[in-house]
Amino acid sequence: MQTASTLDMLRTALAALREGGGTVGFVPTMGALHEGHLSLVRRAREDCDHVVASIFVNPTQFGEGEDLDAYPRQLAEDAAMLEAEGVALLWAPTVEAMYPAGFATSVSVAGVSAGLCGAARPGHFDGVATVVAKLFNQVRPDRAFFGEKDYQQLAVIRTMARDLDLACPQVDSIIGVPTVREADGLALSSRNRYLSADERAAAAALPAAMRETIVALESGEPVAATLAAMGERLIAAGFDQPDYVTLADADTLAPLDALGSAPARLLVAARIGGTRLIDNMAVGPARA
Ligand code: AMP
Repeated sequence: MQTASTLDMLRTALAALREGGGTVGFVPTMGALHEGHLSLVRRAREDCDHVVASIFVNPTQFGEGEDLDAYPRQLAEDAAMLEAEGVALLWAPTVEAMYPAGFATSVSVAGVSAGLCGAARPGHFDGVATVVAKLFNQVRPDRAFFGEKDYQQLAVIRTMARDLDLACPQVDSIIGVPTVREADGLALSSRNRYLSADERAAAAALPAAMRETIVALESGEPVAATLAAMGERLIAAGFDQPDYVTLADADTLAPLDALGSAPARLLVAARIGGTRLIDNMAVGPARA
């Protein structure tokens, strides 16, 4: 595996990779890799001839007072994991390479960015859309792989690709990969390492409450009361008042006050201790 830390190195390495032909799959990450990230890499390897991964802790998607400085950084360990998974090229730029002096552009996706995490973290999805647009243009992959764990992020990136007629990758080549979970149901996240042992044990209440809520919703219980009860259950388990517990249309993320025939999604963000956890699960009929 080659590692590129400057745009020149990246261009040279990509040209060499593409010389023999074949498709390029791309897995963008912020590092501190776990099995969730590796599931994206494995899917990319299945679907594509070459896999390029990136590691970049993107400062513009962190708000003031968020965990940018504390965010775990372990490039050597991550590189070894990616190499073992058969990644051909790791793009690990510096902040200066991504945002040189004079950088002035922002990509903002209205609508789908506005609610949920967009409301709780102003500017977050502008930072995400801008860095992903840059990464796509730098790597120009045939396909890109994102986790459903960050469901709103996936929707924002698909909307950007559709609206801007992106060519590499095209919107249909942005692949969502199911969330990888611990045995007790907690979604893997780089931020789980912030949890104390007690918080980690209590955090299992999040997926458990979500599963119960989905059963209630699918059996016709009223949406508002069921979501409110889930919030209460999280608080009883040791979470703060959740940022949101929302039933939304699975495609548009518009909030739903009743479960209809279209695919829906239960989306949650809540803090336990100082750590903000997010999760989401499908509700109702499976997507066609
Ligand atoms: P991050 O490093 O947190 O920016 O995540 C990089 C990519 O990995 C994103 O597409 C995430 O959605 C995805 N990802 C993170 N956690 C998981 C998980 N538990 N299962 C599947 N994908 C994940």
